[in-house]
Amino acid sequence: MCNNLTAKERLAIDRVHMPELDAELRSRNFEEVNQGLAREEAVREAQRCIQCKTRPCVEGCPVGVSIPEFIDALAAEKLPKAARILQGDNALPAVCGRVCPQESQCEARCVRGVKGEAVAIGYLERFVADWAMTNADKLRSEPLPTGTGKKVAVVGCGPAGLTAAGELARKGHTVTIFEALHDTGGVLRYGIPEFRLPKEIIDVEVDRLLALGVEIECNVIIGKTMTLDQLREQFDAVFIANGAGLPVMLNMPGENLKGVYSANEFLTRVNLMEAGCNPNSPTPIIKGNSVAVIGGGNTAMDCVRTARRLGAERAMIIYRRSEAEMPARIEEIRHAKEEGVEFVMLTAPLEIIGDDKGWTAALSCEKMELGQSDESGRRKPVPVANSRYEVPVDVVVNAIGTRSNPLLTATAPDLALNKWGNIVSDEQGATSIPGVFAGGDIVRGGATVILAMGDGKQAAAAIHGFLSGAA
Ligand code: FAD
Ligand code: SF4
Ligand code: SF4
Repeated sequence: MCNNLTAKERLAIDRVHMPELDAELRSRNFEEVNQGLAREEAVREAQRCIQCKTRPCVEGCPVGVSIPEFIDALAAEKLPKAARILQGDNALPAVCGRVCPQESQCEARCVRGVKGEAVAIGYLERFVADWAMTNADKLRSEPLPTGTGKKVAVVGCGPAGLTAAGELARKGHTVTIFEALHDTGGVLRYGIPEFRLPKEIIDVEVDRLLALGVEIECNVIIGKTMTLDQLREQFDAVFIANGAGLPVMLNMPGENLKGVYSANEFLTRVNLMEAGCNPNSPTPIIKGNSVAVIGGGNTAMDCVRTARRLGAERAMIIYRRSEAEMPARIEEIRHAKEEGVEFVMLTAPLEIIGDDKGWTAALSCEKMELGQSDESGRRKPVPVANSRYEVPVDVVVNAIGTRSNPLLTATAPDLALNKWGNIVSDEQGATSIPGVFAGGDIVRGGATVILAMGDGKQAAAAIHGFLSGAA
């Protein structure tokens, strides 16, 4: 295919469509929904990029991926070059190409989106990253850096921890990641389901880190197995990236009934422990026939789509605002609807009703309407008088949000926290304790993969500076 197209020819190309598994079929299995672009489709999409001198798309990316450059290499079918550029800027491109909210980040700034549709930057990132995974032999392996003799501990093996570990290892520091769970990846593995992010992608990224010499110790809870003080004594610096995995409770009657899950418990049982999808899994899950998921974010979509795949005939999203206010990605909402999920909008849950044996039997709700805007600028839902009604359900999943887990912070009294229990850090990730840095959800509250990775990258640079100064 020719890359010497005129601007007019580039503008005449329509945005590519992502091939997807059939909705009826996929709503009963865990296979990845988005199938990825074929090479010709990716090259053609890359040719839609008009190589803007001002590079607005790069400003929209929290880690500043060199978007025009990698797309230009792809348009010219120089795939090893495209992969090198991408991997140089982004530690987890195959992950970001799948789960980044591109439409509100890089693609939101794309000039082609002003009068038409933005270049499909996320799809192209995924294509190049997947190509690199299956063509590793065509890429030069990374040279191992000379050791600095400095040791860094990373707490948490999610996107923030993985990114920081990779950056620090590339600078020659000896890095050990301590992870509370028995496996790597953080939310990428236990939260985001296989049908959006296949686990083998996380395995490949983790293997790349291991090849750089990073050590990963699973089943170690900092704050229980070891304290932060002990880590600080054994390591020259510490990066805390333990996420925000503690569920916010519904605080309503019936929350302790059998059949009520927090989103993290529900997803962890299925994604990490294979409950419901592997008949040999020792972890059980209640497969409801009628499932209500409370919330409107990505986590709620992941839960409700998982419930459908576990066999629910009726899988519902219960959300107290309207669809326009839902924080979930538009693509996830569309996919969920195609898979038969019901969207019960402007509805607030009041109580979970049990049967005489303590099992969930119904959700009592009331209708809402949108009133005045609140501090966040969103219109506040207010109850409609006398609108209470019951929906029969056998499983309820609470996906209203999460916050920081105090396990680590409660045993580190010198670590400054904000009123929500998140660690306070400066722009470089430095905390109130010298040599201790933090980033990702534990600092921001629940955010995004790419923001956590950006924090990991920034903190790694600051830690390198700290260690170099201390040398
Ligand atoms: P985490 O990914 O939470 O990783 C923290 C790790 O630290 C975990 O492995 C945890 O086990 C470990 N840990 C915790 N405490 C300790 C301790 N005391 N000692 C040792 N280890 C500890 N973002 C997107 O951009 N796109 C999406 O589509 C998207 N979907 C999501 C779907 C779900 C279901 C959820 C829950 C979140 C989603 N997010 C999404 C948000 C995104 O996953 C998070 O913002 C991101 O993972 C935060 O990264 P992190 O490294 O800070 O923390
Ligand atoms: Fe866009 Fe995310 Fe890739 Fe950045 S990392 S270019 S925001 S898809
Ligand atoms: Fe290409 Fe869009 Fe970036 Fe311009 S803004 S360089 S068209 S991706």
